[in-house]
Amino acid sequence: MTDESGSTWVEVEEGSPFPISNLPYGVFSVDGGPARVGVAIGSSVVDLAALAGTGLLPGLDGAFAQPSLNRFMAHGPRAWAVVRERLATLLRQPQRQAAMARAIHPLDSVRLRLPIEVADFVDFYSSLDHATNMGHMLRPEGPALPPAWRHLPVGYHGRAGTVVVSGAPVQRPWGQIAQGSFGPTAKLDFEAEVGFVVGVGSRRGHPVSAGSLAEHAFGVVLVNDWSARDIQSFEYQPLGPFLGKSFATSISPWVVPLEALRAARVVPPVQDPPPLAYLHDPEPWSLDLTLEVRLNGEVVSRPPFATTYWTPGQHLAHLTANGASLRTGDLLASGTVSGREPGQRGSLMELGWNGTAPLTLADGTTRAWLSDGDTVSIAGWAPGADGTRIGWGEVSGTIHPAHPAPASSGAP
Ligand code: MN
Repeated sequence: MTDESGSTWVEVEEGSPFPISNLPYGVFSVDGGPARVGVAIGSSVVDLAALAGTGLLPGLDGAFAQPSLNRFMAHGPRAWAVVRERLATLLRQPQRQAAMARAIHPLDSVRLRLPIEVADFVDFYSSLDHATNMGHMLRPEGPALPPAWRHLPVGYHGRAGTVVVSGAPVQRPWGQIAQGSFGPTAKLDFEAEVGFVVGVGSRRGHPVSAGSLAEHAFGVVLVNDWSARDIQSFEYQPLGPFLGKSFATSISPWVVPLEALRAARVVPPVQDPPPLAYLHDPEPWSLDLTLEVRLNGEVVSRPPFATTYWTPGQHLAHLTANGASLRTGDLLASGTVSGREPGQRGSLMELGWNGTAPLTLADGTTRAWLSDGDTVSIAGWAPGADGTRIGWGEVSGTIHPAHPAPASSGAP
């Protein structure tokens, strides 16, 4: 930290994902106590409920003494800005340190919880390189992209109730993996994605424009959309993914506010053909956000979000174009993020080319698909204000073995 705006009295280690230019929100508890809203800085968590209790922050009707961010998010962009500015000021004034001491906890001493109560979960399919790779693998005879792909952001409605926080175990799911075959998936995969969290909902019958994203979206999480490829490929036609995806979706414990990502905004790729008017954004933006995927600690991919074809604003516009409403807590994920290079692919299916070219890890073992005991961790980094680099920490999950065969399972 070199300039005045970047200095804080909280110790922030070099290379921390949480400098004062970030201030991501999460939900935590200490020693089995009540869950409440916190903000990460360096290797500490600031208890916002405690600060509101002493009058240092606006109380917002108890919005910080809650087991999710939803009540705070529902207050809207003006309240988000007031709290963020006030908090940054407090963290820059050395004379505040004594009064705030009891509201600050070491990050490694708290339990991080699912930060949002997920209302609806939507997953898109918006990376051109990912969609192209999947098309080449699954439909080698035909065109890589489905007919609608360049005309609208393809997506599906997922299962909100099985969104879990980083660190939650992921049990290998059972399902129909082929005709007449019910068993544990043999093709378990990860998908590295970026999720936008809706803070302010909308009314049914009132579509939201692409340019209105910042009036509705509170912040951004990292997403791992775990996928069972054998279950998925047997079930997905014609209505799309169902049980091959719905067993678990992991998100990061930290929600980086949109405001912290201003310096990361970039112009998205040119769209050909130009989208219809309802998908037009006069000032379109995406994020210069690089994901980093580790498998058992080893970096296997660095997918770039900036080249994603459809923008977060267009996701919002498309989702509401038919009059569907938004709710506080809606999670809008990008779909697997892949870049053009082999080292930028966001799923194991692409990295190992549908099992035909398994990855070789540093310990000499190979992976066509995930094994029991494997840990997948996805980190994310973006430029922050004042030349800083901000991050999410990570979203991580370990594969637990499938449950034992039920007595009635197997072929009839
Ligand atoms: Mn996905």
